[in-house]
Amino acid sequence: MRGTRTEPQEGRITFKGRGLAYRHGRGLVLKVCPLCSQWNAPKAADKGLCGWCAYVPSLKDVEPAT
Ligand SMILES: [Zn+2]
Repeated sequence: MRGTRTEPQEGRITFKGRGLAYRHGRGLVLKVCPLCSQWNAPKAADKGLCGWCAYVPSLKDVEPAT
């Protein structure tokens, strides 16, 4: 353990239990929007935002998907 800062999770993640995304390095692929629960459009997914409601999930809310 070093420091008290929580590093963002790698791999499959949710945002406080909602939505679904894949995190790799500094990139984020948003698969399911945590706000509107829609499956995201691939173009928007690669940018880490929702193609439907333009929501950008906060990395503060990241939790590992179970
Ligand atoms: Zn959305």
